[in-house]
Amino acid sequence: MTSIAIIGAGISGLRAAQTLQSQANVTVFEKSRGVSGRMSTRYNDDYEFDHGAQYFTAKTQEFSTFLQPYIDDDIVAPWTPKGLPEDTRHKYVATPRMNSLCKAMAKGINVMTGTRVERAEYASGAWDLSDDSGLSLGQFDGLIVTAPAQQAQVILGEEIKPSLEGINHIANFTLMVGLSEMWSENWEALRPQNDIIGWAAVNSSKPGRNIDFTTLVVQSQNEWAETHKDADREWVQAQMISAFKSLTGIDISDAQIASLHRWLYANVETPLGRDIFSDEKRRLIVAGDGCLGGRIESAWQSGDAAGQKAALWLIS
Ligand SMILES: Cc1cc2nc3c(=O)[nH]c(=O)nc-3n(C[C@H](O)[C@H](O)[C@H](O)COP(=O)(O)OP(=O)(O)OC[C@H]3O[C@@H](n4cnc5c(N)ncnc54)[C@H](O)[C@@H]3O)c2cc1C
Repeated sequence: MTSIAIIGAGISGLRAAQTLQSQANVTVFEKSRGVSGRMSTRYNDDYEFDHGAQYFTAKTQEFSTFLQPYIDDDIVAPWTPKGLPEDTRHKYVATPRMNSLCKAMAKGINVMTGTRVERAEYASGAWDLSDDSGLSLGQFDGLIVTAPAQQAQVILGEEIKPSLEGINHIANFTLMVGLSEMWSENWEALRPQNDIIGWAAVNSSKPGRNIDFTTLVVQSQNEWAETHKDADREWVQAQMISAFKSLTGIDISDAQIASLHRWLYANVETPLGRDIFSDEKRRLIVAGDGCLGGRIESAWQSGDAAGQKAALWLIS
């Protein structure tokens, strides 16, 4: 059976794996401890935070059709947060956590978590993968890379650079705040016009979350984060807390939990402009949200296209 390695267990890599699973010998390599990538959930005592993607929308029929069984199984549910304009309020989230969708997608797929692919080299008709201690991860007939372009270039080497040129992922800071009291404000999500804060949400207002505690997720503007990505973290956190207070009147400086996460490759400033990059000769595909845009649906579309393209390798 044809063997295919997929690097990355975010939604794009898992979608590619789902489409190939019954026809090929698929192995997904994921550097983190769990699946989900930027749809992950962070745990801190009893508090849980969707600290990456906040929600998703389904604009295409294909993605809606894909979501339906997960909606039927209560793994995906609508979320219409108070505070956003009526015409932008209708969103979906995974339940009970954002990582629940990728966890469900990963069922039955061979995912090697905690395994960072350091290098992928093509020689004599096969891809040779090795990890960060130089150990071989095996040989594969085909390779799909779904890591953000800057990371994909490290794995694939300099020669891939011109093909991925133009894709640019930029940073984001996410502040996770846990409050012991119940939420009593009249908003559940805000998308302010502000130099520092780009988004704030009451995570605990999403369906299926624990409402005994209040969890807030405050995300920076991407451009601000890109400018300050190497700044002192305490300074970044203080700036965000102060901007949040100016916006909402709420002082979170003495919250039970306040912790900051930096996403180096959060969102896509400029995408490739097509659903995948593929190199037929070497049976290589680069997919992920860098191809069509920094949204969950776009990442899924790219992963779906990658799976369909790789399926053609199996019959040629
Ligand atoms: C802060 C933030 C807020 C966002 N908000 C939204 C939102 O509200 N709505 C929305 O639609 N989208 C949002 N997005 C974007 C959305 O999360 C992404 O577009 C989507 O999840 C990307 O999926 P992916 O599979 O392409 O990449 P990823 O989810 O990043 O998956 C790639 C995977 O590759 C792994 N990997 C990387 N390098 C290696 C390696 N060398 N070896 C092994 N594994 C490796 C990574 O660990 C990761 O799990 C947000 C993103 C961030 C960060």
